Amino acid sequence: MRYTIGIDMGGTNIAAGLVDENGVLVSTVSKKTCPPRPAEAYAKDMAELGRELVEKNSLSWEDILWLGAGLPGTVNVQKGALEYANNLGIVYAPLKEMLQELLPCRIYLENDGNAAAWAEYLYGAGRGSRDFLMVTLGTGIGAGIIADGKISRGVNYAAGEVGHMTIKFDGEVCSCGRRGCFEQYASASALVRQAKAMMKNDRKKDSLLWQLCSGKPEAVEGKQIFRAVREGDEKTRQVLDQYIEYLECGITNLINIFQPDILCIGGGISRAQDCLLEPLKELCAEHVYSRDSQVQTKIVPARFYNEAGILGAALLGREGGI
Ligand SMILES: [Zn+2]
Repeated sequence: MRYTIGIDMGGTNIAAGLVDENGVLVSTVSKKTCPPRPAEAYAKDMAELGRELVEKNSLSWEDILWLGAGLPGTVNVQKGALEYANNLGIVYAPLKEMLQELLPCRIYLENDGNAAAWAEYLYGAGRGSRDFLMVTLGTGIGAGIIADGKISRGVNYAAGEVGHMTIKFDGEVCSCGRRGCFEQYASASALVRQAKAMMKNDRKKDSLLWQLCSGKPEAVEGKQIFRAVREGDEKTRQVLDQYIEYLECGITNLINIFQPDILCIGGGISRAQDCLLEPLKELCAEHVYSRDSQVQTKIVPARFYNEAGILGAALLGREGGI
């Protein structure tokens, strides 16, 4: 059995995993990221995690086909460089070369959103598709685009920033400098913000959400919002209905543009099948341009959650086809 190593570099942790030929994650290790640091320090930590995995599993480097790393920023795949990563405090670092000097195996770098989509495409929710889109609802909204079996990166490796497509002209200001961006209305954070705003206006405080967060709006999370809706709370249901309309607007735009075989929704809140995904699917089916076509994009939840980043990075060498 040969293995590959995947590294998921986040703002808090650098997580690394050993993945076998069947795409199964068999062992993981991690370190704190501690940004900002020079690129050399990150490279050293990544190499060390790779060595740890080899030793921990009693392997030698001959058993390792390659190491792939998913990075939170713009990755120039041609040059093997991380061009910009705000979270890490990096502006241009030739990380591939740095890692190559430290480790005796092939090195692949990729944007972390693309890597996660690649994992879902090969072994998860996108299995069997050719055109695949993964949209992740988190603090913002990220995406990975697989077009005709290849990762689509764009001319400057910044493709897939679907969170910054406008869904409300002249709407709320976004960190990107524009207004009315999709992620201002339909990210997981936006849902929580919308629920808090409802609570603030709920003078009688008779929404169930007040009880579920013990009277502390700052403690509201997605799971309490879904619980309140499931238990029949009308005010929270109105918040969620409005949120789903925003989400549907962006998802329908994406389906109209890409018409993928499968569009998968990731992020913690996508697990709420009954409250979120089912109503979203119904609205999209009514509104997509291709609604009369016999073939429709399937909207499904992601299969992998925390491990998608590691797994996708470990599978990067497959893009050329092995
Ligand atoms: Zn924006």
